[in-house]
Amino acid sequence: MTAMVKAEGVHKSFGPVQVLKGIDLEVAPREVFCLIGPSGSGKSTFLRCINHLEKINSGRLYVDGDLVGYRQKGDKLYELKDREVAEKRRDIGMVFQRFNLFPHMTALENVIEAPVQVKRETKAVARERALRLLDRVGLGDKAGNYPSQLSGGQQQRVAIARALAMEPKLMLFDEPTSALDPELVGEVLDVMRGLAEEGMTMIVVTHEMGFAREVGDSVVFMDDGVVVESGQPREVLTNPRHERTKSFLSKVL
Ligand code: ADP
Ligand code: MG
Repeated sequence: MTAMVKAEGVHKSFGPVQVLKGIDLEVAPREVFCLIGPSGSGKSTFLRCINHLEKINSGRLYVDGDLVGYRQKGDKLYELKDREVAEKRRDIGMVFQRFNLFPHMTALENVIEAPVQVKRETKAVARERALRLLDRVGLGDKAGNYPSQLSGGQQQRVAIARALAMEPKLMLFDEPTSALDPELVGEVLDVMRGLAEEGMTMIVVTHEMGFAREVGDSVVFMDDGVVVESGQPREVLTNPRHERTKSFLSKVL
């Protein structure tokens, strides 16, 4: 079975600063893969590399068997053209800490925007799916609301619906609940849990250890640009082997 994401010795630097120092990992189709670690350890950078927002310096990164950013012919690599990158990115949904909705568009308009503009879908088709998705994230009655008329949790659920509207094969979540008031975290995690149950492949950067334990299939602890420890949530979160993992967990749990 082809891994949905495979990283082999992935290195990424910004100028002289090495941020990813040889990441090796594999995410299987339908897996919920939780990435944890202290601030500055390179989690967001790694997600951004998967989503073509950053270029890696060395190593290999694959999404669904395809090299990210390059096309391989024989033993030669060719950089993908912007148009090809854009095409690849359609298959990957990303949800950020900040909801990043278009403020001048209603929830519904936010969700139909990319399918209509990028995929050239008809408004009718996009609208039908968008309404279904808004319903699925519990916002069927908020389709006409503008972001400013929605709570942070509701905005984040619209952002999830918007990502799903492109029918991605992989969803990346970068601390999707970190900017939310505590009482709104649960509703977003519930939507993510539902998505996991439906078999979506997800990489989730999170400090929500309860979510990682209950929903995650694997947990990877990253620190200072390397994978320190990985395994089933039960092992990593309850029985960490490394001092660095123990110390991190004692601060967040
Ligand atoms: P995390 O998400 O785990 O908190 P990040 O991937 O955001 O970590 O950042 C890891 C390190 O990379 C940090 O030291 C950060 O300052 C640095 N970094 C991230 N993006 C850039 C950039 N565009 N230019 C320079 N340094 C960056
Ligand atoms: Mg981050």
